Amino acid sequence: MVGAIDPDERSDWQAWRAAAARPAVDAELRALYTEVDAAIAQRGPTCWTSGKCCKFDSFGHRLYVTALEVAWFLGQIDSPADAHAAPPTPVAGGGIRLPQMAQTPGACPYQLDGRCSTHTVRPLGCRIFFCQAGTEDWQQDLYELFLTRLRAMHERHAVEYRYMDWIAGLEAAGR
Ligand code: SF4
Repeated sequence: MVGAIDPDERSDWQAWRAAAARPAVDAELRALYTEVDAAIAQRGPTCWTSGKCCKFDSFGHRLYVTALEVAWFLGQIDSPADAHAAPPTPVAGGGIRLPQMAQTPGACPYQLDGRCSTHTVRPLGCRIFFCQAGTEDWQQDLYELFLTRLRAMHERHAVEYRYMDWIAGLEAAGR
């Protein structure tokens, strides 16, 4: 059951979404994701299980993100006319997909027919995680490095930092 909406929480999400729409924040986050993708490409991991890791309950893990990442992601979904990069594949039904809309219970609601429908705007954790054996060490190091930079970005732009479960964040932001 969804609880009552906390006005403070609503204003927190309004602030994060406004911050994510600021051109300087938008540009910095895009640049960081581009760097992440380049760092991953250099290491050349392979996706072996094609989307099973997005089914969090059955895979047995969670995805953690920052509030600013959730806010930025939702801004891209709401306004798919993206002047800087290929827009995400249109999401069926448009707009935010709440967790209860997931095709598989306990999975990311943006996984449609086994594929990520928002590949170009997915958060840091989605970009770095690979289940391929032998990649754990560099993944952890890379994740820590870029998460530290994300946190610094929040501080530089005077945006409150909060780290959260992806599903819980989507649920809270969508209320
Ligand atoms: S945003 Fe895409 S890659 Fe990330 S968990 Fe959802 S479906 Fe998977």
